[in-house]
Amino acid sequence: MTDAATIRAQLPGTPRDLVHEHQDALIAGLMDYVSQPGVSATGEGFPAATDRALAEVERAGLTPSVLASDGGRPLVVGHRAGPAGSPHVLLYGHYDVQPAGPREQWDSDPFTPVLRDGRIWGRGTGDNKGQHYAHLQALRLFDEYAGQLPCSVTVLLDGEEEIGSPTLATTLRAHRELFDGDLVVWSDRSVHESGEWCVSHGVRGMLRLRLRATGPSRPLHSGNFGNVATNPAWQLVQALACLKDPAGRVLVEGFDDGREPLPDADRAAFAALPLDLPQVLGDIGLSGMDPAFDGLSFYERLADRPTLTINGISTGDVARTIIPDTAEAGIDIRLTPGQDPQAVFERVAAHLRVHAPEVTVVKTGGTPASRTTIDNPYTPQVAAAISRVTGRPPLLIPAYGGTLPDWVFTDVLGLPSIGLPLANADQANHAPNENLRVDYFLDATAICMELLFELGSAAGPLARPTATEA
Ligand SMILES: [Zn+2]
Repeated sequence: MTDAATIRAQLPGTPRDLVHEHQDALIAGLMDYVSQPGVSATGEGFPAATDRALAEVERAGLTPSVLASDGGRPLVVGHRAGPAGSPHVLLYGHYDVQPAGPREQWDSDPFTPVLRDGRIWGRGTGDNKGQHYAHLQALRLFDEYAGQLPCSVTVLLDGEEEIGSPTLATTLRAHRELFDGDLVVWSDRSVHESGEWCVSHGVRGMLRLRLRATGPSRPLHSGNFGNVATNPAWQLVQALACLKDPAGRVLVEGFDDGREPLPDADRAAFAALPLDLPQVLGDIGLSGMDPAFDGLSFYERLADRPTLTINGISTGDVARTIIPDTAEAGIDIRLTPGQDPQAVFERVAAHLRVHAPEVTVVKTGGTPASRTTIDNPYTPQVAAAISRVTGRPPLLIPAYGGTLPDWVFTDVLGLPSIGLPLANADQANHAPNENLRVDYFLDATAICMELLFELGSAAGPLARPTATEA
């Protein structure tokens, strides 16, 4: 019998049974945890939020530590070794939360969680306390009933995910020896909009730019100064226009350089995802997709191609006859695996130097994309953990169109990184009335237990060589 099987035999029931037996305590514990604010953007609730996360890690039977870099909000870490030769999984979540926003838009106080209509309401319930609390409670149940874990675990709780995890990469590099794992499982975001559980494998990166043109020292009367003063609004729109042709093709030389093709397994997985395109388009008031990408599927557009998006233009006044003094535009470029944010920035800047030299461009942010191929050896384990609890296989999503700091796991740690979202799709994260459905939270806790069983029972390529074999 494997160690994982021995541990399973020690439990008085299935993980699902155990979780349901403990559900009142699990719900009460999460509500109490959510009542501690920890707003990374403003500092509200810090440093108590870090101490509280640390206490939860300790209560789960892990050896806790606190790591900080460059004055950032600390990363809370907990470790517990599993049986010799078992895989080592790094579980990532974050204990900081978004600001609550206007209190009057909430039906109940954001930091006084309430249980209503089968949901827990409060800031941080879904994003992200409920998700990492499910992992921690799974670990605690193993501690209580078996006194050991089926595999080695390191929990990483980020204290500044909601402000873009500015020091996470530095902290992981500085303590590389603590993160000598086999894979990362991060729990954040939501299950699929259809309500189906899902497993994801990467995100697009993002480069953010600010373009600026400057004219006279103040806005001028367009009659008194028209044809005399240069107009920065014209300079800016010409600069924007030089980036794409009228058909929507990006004109920046080398824009796509380094882009790695989508693996065949990922392409097949995209094709298998459910999609009601007329409904998606109808919901945003459109009848067709951008013709610049004709021939590409909805998901290929989102996850396999970079974007070049004008986010906004700010200049002058549409109601007054003036020549503006400045004109500014924000641009984001969503990057796919293989595209280096700095290299793309330099190509865009070089293009603008030639075609619009009067406009300045600065880089205001850059995050690389990440990819773990869908046919990696761990996805079947994660999917099996979900099926064991829910009775249904999850959707396998190769990549999201959005951006998360997943590259720190794939590039800095060099590990496969798998997303296991544990919150309902209508969790209203970042918005008023954030909530977590209790049924998802309880299933999530059982799934986290099953995940460790699956990893711990894995044989062959997943098992680590023991010290004597190595
Ligand atoms: Zn968030």
